[in-house]
Amino acid sequence: MNVVIFGPPGAGKGTQALNIVNKFALYQVSTGDLLRNEVKNKTSIGKDIENIISKGDFATDEIVNDLIEKVIFDPQKRNKLIFDGYPRSLNQAKNLDLLLSKSSQKIDFIFFLNVKKETIIKRIEKRKILENRADDNTLTLLKRYDTYMETTKPVLEFYSKKPNFYEIDGDVEIHEIYRKIEQILSV
Ligand code: AMP
Repeated sequence: MNVVIFGPPGAGKGTQALNIVNKFALYQVSTGDLLRNEVKNKTSIGKDIENIISKGDFATDEIVNDLIEKVIFDPQKRNKLIFDGYPRSLNQAKNLDLLLSKSSQKIDFIFFLNVKKETIIKRIEKRKILENRADDNTLTLLKRYDTYMETTKPVLEFYSKKPNFYEIDGDVEIHEIYRKIEQILSV
């Protein structure tokens, strides 16, 4: 099966994706990781990507789509994909459908992890007390939350019409979120 999991930063997407990977033996496809790899390996597009990421901008759809294509056509990963942090735009969502259809695959489950801003603030506060962390990234995270919700709106509209779309309440405890996802994936 192929899965898409998306939601704002701070929703615990990475944690949930990892849980699903472990339980269902999938390959986690994070476009953030793929992009960082290009920088690390100093490829021809690595330098451009480094500039984009350091400015906090989005990589172009062209760059991201090329990287994703390689993964989708990898026979080892066929029908064992979980996309995390992708698609981030309507163009990327449509391109994903196209690439999957070209390789005779499809998305089986789409999860939108919906979490309120207040919940994210509460989680940060709790972590600060537990880990004695500084407050330096709270504002940054909240700003990224707003940007994400704004730019991903068209993706949400596109996916929410599909029959295999599931909105998951991300305001409950982390293990409770996973229990719900696991229930849906196990049927
Ligand atoms: P992440 O690790 O998902 O937080 O991504 C880190 C950075 O990589 C983001 O801030 C963007 O600059 C870039 N990035 C990751 N995924 C995408 C994507 N699907 N489309 C465009 N840019 C992306």
